[in-house]
Amino acid sequence: MPANHRIITIARLALLACTGCISNEFDEAPLAMACEVGVVRGHTRADVEEVARLAGQLDPAVKEIVRPRQTPPLRIVVVPQHPSRPDATTMFEMRPNTGAIRQFIAIRIDGSGPRRFLLAHELVHWYADWAWDHLPIAVEEGMADLVAAQLSPELGALRRVMLMHHKPTVPDIRRMLEVERGTERGLDWRSREMLYLVGRQVAERIGIDRLRSWCLTAEATGSGHIPLEWLLDPSAAPASAERHAQHQDAPRFEDAGAKRERNL
Ligand SMILES: [Zn+2]
Repeated sequence: MPANHRIITIARLALLACTGCISNEFDEAPLAMACEVGVVRGHTRADVEEVARLAGQLDPAVKEIVRPRQTPPLRIVVVPQHPSRPDATTMFEMRPNTGAIRQFIAIRIDGSGPRRFLLAHELVHWYADWAWDHLPIAVEEGMADLVAAQLSPELGALRRVMLMHHKPTVPDIRRMLEVERGTERGLDWRSREMLYLVGRQVAERIGIDRLRSWCLTAEATGSGHIPLEWLLDPSAAPASAERHAQHQDAPRFEDAGAKRERNL
């Protein structure tokens, strides 16, 4: 792949990562390796060994950030690239009473750098259970993107440069924050890009610790989604919603959004 093409591809990687429904790709991969954090399967020994190594490096760091309630062993499969499939996917099985059950992570892309970024992103989906479900899917995607950028700084910097060229309006932001979980796969590619962009900006402005605090409060009080107005203007969140974490004041989202609208 030419260098310029690879850079563009890498910059767009997180836009291609998503969650998906059940398939047999994990069980059908012929090679398997048990490692400290779970099982990695694949079609070549080199792929399996490299992804097992990356998983061993990333798993403790992602758990430290996400702080999941449950830590099921990882199940990862390295599969050939496919033009109509995402480069990385976390597969879930929906069950009536228990909700989404993690099945496996599928990684399709070559190269240790891109794999590191995408695996970190998917590990956030793997561990973002229970209280994190109170976030809109856009913000979970944004949190996954932000964590991947922290754990893969070289590609993270490239992603950030790409994101700075996009200027969502306040109506765009509201529309993306209202996308229901499970419906994001039905969005056209432009809307999916906007979903990732808005989610990343919200996650970065509010911060993962503060989002966790809101989610834990929502879980404790039996609330539904985090109120949209809190995500747009963090000062709208009551002090009682923020007793679980230390944080710094975040700017109102409308302020930045209004500035962006003027820039358009
Ligand atoms: Zn994702």
